[in-house]
Amino acid sequence: MNFDVENIRKDFPILSKKINNKPLIYFDNAATSQTPTSVINSISNYYNNYNANIHRGVHSLSEEATQDFESARTKIKEHFNAGDTKEIIFTSGTTHSINIVANGYTDILKSGDEIIVSGLEHHSNIVPWQMMTKKNNAKLKVIPLKENGELDLKVFENLISDKTKLVFINHVSNALGVINPIKKIIEIAHKNGAVVLVDGAQSSAHFDIDLQKLDVDFFTASAHKLCGPTGIGFLYGKKELLDLIPPYMGGGEMISEVTFEKTTYADLPHKFEAGTPNISGAIAFGYALDYLNNIGLDNIKKYEDYLLDYATNKLKQIDGMIIYGDTPNKTSVISFNIDGLHAYDIGSILDKFGIAVRTGQHCAQPIMDYFKISGTVRASFSFINTIEEIDELIKAITFAKQMLS
Ligand code: PMP
Repeated sequence: MNFDVENIRKDFPILSKKINNKPLIYFDNAATSQTPTSVINSISNYYNNYNANIHRGVHSLSEEATQDFESARTKIKEHFNAGDTKEIIFTSGTTHSINIVANGYTDILKSGDEIIVSGLEHHSNIVPWQMMTKKNNAKLKVIPLKENGELDLKVFENLISDKTKLVFINHVSNALGVINPIKKIIEIAHKNGAVVLVDGAQSSAHFDIDLQKLDVDFFTASAHKLCGPTGIGFLYGKKELLDLIPPYMGGGEMISEVTFEKTTYADLPHKFEAGTPNISGAIAFGYALDYLNNIGLDNIKKYEDYLLDYATNKLKQIDGMIIYGDTPNKTSVISFNIDGLHAYDIGSILDKFGIAVRTGQHCAQPIMDYFKISGTVRASFSFINTIEEIDELIKAITFAKQMLS
């Protein structure tokens, strides 16, 4: 495989760290990706050289900060091929973005309207909608899973009707790594007049996404899964839909005129950006996209698929191994249990070997309920990982199995 992973790893200072006297092996990329030096430096450069509030100052520092903040917005627009920078709203991340949309539709949807969620969602794409339906009495329906972790699209086609106003679904499941057929789901939803929100928290780091080609209505991602910092992400929405929904938070920056009688809102994207945003975070997000584009998402995808195939084949050779979401249609995540062992115990032993994996429900309890389990061990890969690290994982799991059996 022609991918210069050793050189790329030099860009990530954290990879020289030791955990329990062993070199860090980081397989928790689905929770948060690691950060390259160029992104870390962009944050200290901001605070060292042009820290100032944006949009309102006439002074040079404020202008420089505003320029870089807005140029990060342009980078996001270009990277994801949105139609207009006005359609890119900076948020604190995916959770915040989904809450903007759920709040926005609270007064638009009425009792009798229906919304559809996939059975594969992270809690952040379930709870905000439940909070919304409590207020407007819309009915929440669920697309069920199949044994291989894919969604049952035949049932989806039966669930959807002209009563369906919204469909919300993740692009890739964080708990299983399964890639959902969002293009098809968007087409079916649009035929029925429904609006679709795609949660791209897990897909955006692994392959190219073209928002206009997908014709998706709302899309969201978090920078910290894309080699960027925490506390920043974006909501994309088609302009006419963002114009339709009211803002979630009121305050400075998001207004056009304020009197004690009434307020008019600013134009997009500022209508949804009340208060001082995470300026350095947004700028660093732009640098993170530059970094990923330098390597190329096509190259990243090929290499990560190679790691995933290698790890899946090796893990399957371990006696008692159960992999959830065992379909070729997936990316970068292996969620597993070993018959008779507790996920938490396996994760704790792996940590002794310096190996970071996640254990538990992965904020996706309905998926665990479907498989009738309390949780899984989740190893999630990225382009910074190596075949040798996967070999270490297999050795450590084999050791854990012997110790715990
Ligand atoms: N959706 C999915 C699929 C996720 O994996 C995550 C993060 N684990 C979220 C939403 C929430 O993202 P954030 O915590 O960055 O808001």
